[in-house]
Amino acid sequence: MSETLSRLDRARILAGLSDAGRAALSRLEVIPVLDSTNSYLSAGANAGWPGGAVCLTEQQTAGRGRQGRQWLTPFGASLAFSLLWRFNRPPEALSGLSLVTGIAVARALQNQQVQGIGLKWPNDLRWRGRKLGGILLESGGVGERFHVVAGVGLNVALPPKAGEQIDQPWVDLREITGNSELDRSQWAAGMIDELIRTFIRFEAEGFGGFVEDWNGFDQVRDRRVRLLLPNGAASGLARGVDETGALLLEAADGRITPYLGGEISLRLES
Ligand code: ATP
Repeated sequence: MSETLSRLDRARILAGLSDAGRAALSRLEVIPVLDSTNSYLSAGANAGWPGGAVCLTEQQTAGRGRQGRQWLTPFGASLAFSLLWRFNRPPEALSGLSLVTGIAVARALQNQQVQGIGLKWPNDLRWRGRKLGGILLESGGVGERFHVVAGVGLNVALPPKAGEQIDQPWVDLREITGNSELDRSQWAAGMIDELIRTFIRFEAEGFGGFVEDWNGFDQVRDRRVRLLLPNGAASGLARGVDETGALLLEAADGRITPYLGGEISLRLES
């Protein structure tokens, strides 16, 4: 753990929440070391925990990205947390939720005066083309018991040695802000608050209400991209998203096709 970072403090996180955020919270746990905050809350969800449960950790020993990829969370160097939510909407009405999670985290960073944060579809948090954070949405249960777990991993101050294991350009908040004494408890409160506020709004508006928010953070619009699909690939110009959160890809003949799905990855071509 970096000597300049203080430990996550549950009482201070609670105190930093808005009244509305606190009211929506059913549980707030800070656990020093976990395999994965998503796994922890998914197990809780399966055991019947109500929505509004949040779990934070100092270190994930088996942090996960999308499609079985690894997410590195060295002790005390990140903000790693998950939120369990039970939506009053059927699963098929949750299209775009993973983008919305990215919007919430990007907005929370903006609220802390972090400039230049953007999103790469569907939900990579980026700064000047480097990866600052990742988001993993998982769901389970059926009917009344259906739940979603939204996991967020954000680099605060990664030890350079640990960063060597990451196989793509990355960045942390220490470098972006020039501040090595970030108050992670305060930042965590802001993020949890924004995430809860955003999920409540999503419940009412669906993704349609967030297209403009997305446009404000979209870092790939009008860029040449390649989509890696479960069986193949597609190239073209990224033209933003539609009302479901699908990426709009313009082919060479000018035709625009929406692409949606948790197995799709986007790569910039230029
Ligand atoms: P996609 O565009 O499909 O999301 P991705 O490769 O960025 O692709 P993620 O699931 O978002 O996939 O994140 C996992 C990847 O992120 C890892 O394979 C690794 O390259 C990178 N990574 C792992 N830990 C970190 C970290 N702490 N900071 C930045 N990048 C990381």
